[in-house]
Amino acid sequence: MPRTDFDPIAIRKEFPALDQTVNGKPLIYLDSAATSQKPRAVLDALDAYYERDNANVHRGIHELSRRATIAYEDARGRVGSWINAVEPSEIIWTRGTTEAINLVAMAWGLDNVGKGDEILLSVLEHHSNIIPWQLLAKRTGAKLRYIELDEQGRLILDDLDSLLSRRTKIVAISHVSNALGTINPVKRITEAAHAVGAIVVVDGAQGAVHTKVDVQDLGVDFYAFSGHKMCGPTGIGVLWGRRALLDAMSPYQGGGEMIHFVGREESTWASVPHKFEAGTPNIAGAIGMGAAVDFLSEIGMDAIAVHERDLMAYAIEKVGAIPGLTIYGPTSLDERSAVLSFSLGDAHPHDISTILDSDGIAVRAGHHCAQLVMKHFGVAATARASFYLYNTKDDVDRLVDGLEQVRTIFA
Ligand code: PMP
Repeated sequence: MPRTDFDPIAIRKEFPALDQTVNGKPLIYLDSAATSQKPRAVLDALDAYYERDNANVHRGIHELSRRATIAYEDARGRVGSWINAVEPSEIIWTRGTTEAINLVAMAWGLDNVGKGDEILLSVLEHHSNIIPWQLLAKRTGAKLRYIELDEQGRLILDDLDSLLSRRTKIVAISHVSNALGTINPVKRITEAAHAVGAIVVVDGAQGAVHTKVDVQDLGVDFYAFSGHKMCGPTGIGVLWGRRALLDAMSPYQGGGEMIHFVGREESTWASVPHKFEAGTPNIAGAIGMGAAVDFLSEIGMDAIAVHERDLMAYAIEKVGAIPGLTIYGPTSLDERSAVLSFSLGDAHPHDISTILDSDGIAVRAGHHCAQLVMKHFGVAATARASFYLYNTKDDVDRLVDGLEQVRTIFA
């Protein structure tokens, strides 16, 4: 059950790392798109596992192994319900979004993509949703095609039908851009992709974090996301896939736990999800991700989305009013998530970030692993402030003060 009222100040108190000073100033953490901070509930779940239940999963018949296995599988079920998976076995634990996309590229891709086939991406993608497809294309002789961006960093979909054909085997698209915050019309793209028989792989690293994701409603085939961006631990993430596709896929890695029977020359595979989880998994990570899902569900994804929209409206108004400052990305709040990418006059984004850091404000500067986006806007880098459930309008005010200081230094 979601909490009845949304109070970002109270929520913030649940995140120990936010309660510190940096360079003598209270920390203002505006880098959640890179990784979010972790609430006490998640830290406690990790502690409880290591202090009481630590054992390898699916292997022992002793009490600790039983407890660890139950907690690990229970977390799978909770994460599955959270995104409305049909069944828990559709949740494959991975290291994160990157590994999840690589898994699809290598396991589904190598079996189903051949010379002359096409893979459709967009210019908006994080490198995690480009490089695995480039590797697949090199190995198979497939061709990459791209959906272009308009001047606001939105996908140009007018000619989507001409980019798709019976040769298109995969459409790989982000739910939300980490570089600009653009929210993509995944359902519309999926319908068009399915009409030509292509599968749809969604990079949900910035999607599941901010909005309620319902994989069945989206209609996609694979959805990848990372625990560390949604209040969970690092080193754990999820590949959700349709059961029929997962069943038909070859394993991605070989090792313990993913087999049914091993012979000298040939072996047979365990059923999903274990077929894709070779070796000792990140047990604590999965349990921590389950705790993160509980935490977010208790607060309510809808309430988080409303709060972030308010914050973005305020940030765009206040930060956008700074002379010489350019905001990149869609102007409409309906089309953008809680990411504010900007440049300020001639100040290098790294200098902006350094000056803000001296004020205790953490923002990111660089190409955000989205060099094609930077090229589109003709810049090498941007500064990026990204917001989450624990940020407040006061944080935005502190950011504005810090940016005024940057302006004075570079004036
Ligand atoms: N895609 C997007 C849109 C991202 O923001 C990120 C993380 N910056 C990734 C993929 C990769 O996620 P991870 O590093 O957790 O695998």
